[in-house]
Amino acid sequence: MSRSAAPQANSAVRSTEAAQMRNPAPPAVTLYARENPEFGERVAHATALLQSVSSEFPGRVVLASSLGAEDMVLIDMISRQRLPIPVATLDTGRLHAQTLALIERSERRYALSIERHAPRAEAVITFVDREGADAMYRSVELRKACCALRKLEPLQRLLAGREAWITGLRRDQSGTRLDVPFREHDADGRVKLNPLADWRWSDVWHYIAVHQVPYNPLHDAHMPSIGCEPCTRAISLGEDFRAGRWWWEDQSAKECGLHFNDRSPRTDVEPSATADDHLHHLAPAA
Ligand code: SF4
Repeated sequence: MSRSAAPQANSAVRSTEAAQMRNPAPPAVTLYARENPEFGERVAHATALLQSVSSEFPGRVVLASSLGAEDMVLIDMISRQRLPIPVATLDTGRLHAQTLALIERSERRYALSIERHAPRAEAVITFVDREGADAMYRSVELRKACCALRKLEPLQRLLAGREAWITGLRRDQSGTRLDVPFREHDADGRVKLNPLADWRWSDVWHYIAVHQVPYNPLHDAHMPSIGCEPCTRAISLGEDFRAGRWWWEDQSAKECGLHFNDRSPRTDVEPSATADDHLHHLAPAA
């Protein structure tokens, strides 16, 4: 991609934001929440998984949270069940102000302290001095190098000494996640629990509505998947759930490595659930 492509994309984001200011959309919770027949069963199953992993790995399990909608559901469930599971996040140094504010709102709401794992300052300074602050737009390699130092290395510190971790991965988030199991092992042999693997986007928002869970206001601006500020944009009608992440890259490359495993990206499979939910995203819930 050329250096000029990112500003063009940012300009598209700005025009989307301007359009939203002229004609503000209903909040995400109004657009997406829908009570599916399986909702109660899914909540019970996810809760049971959290209880089980908490008992199995006392003091050695953590919720690795990006503060996305799914992770807010998990924080609420853990808090509601009074499970002794700490919450940790990666403070990459490039997060939106809204995401940083949500960390503090969550701490107040749930009376907890969220662990923040930041990249090593020296590594960031060296990289930025050499490649520039927005090197991620210039090549996939540079983008991955940025993710490696701002996300992957801090994740290793977040997981150090822990035998299990919990994520908010869901199968219908993207074509690369269609096979996400409830429980798997990461590349280092740790147990990785994905309690919301079978949840629909509408389930996530129904839970948020029912329990008045705080969420990132960027979801109200058509950002279903929120990462770092330079690498996230709003999506439009018909776009995939994760289309706003690293939008300038090929679709098959849209993972940062946090959830690497040996599942091959299934770009041959139409993520019908995602498309289905996305259509629902853009119309008020029935
Ligand atoms: S998402 Fe973007 S800013 Fe964040 S670590 Fe990856 S490349 Fe860097």
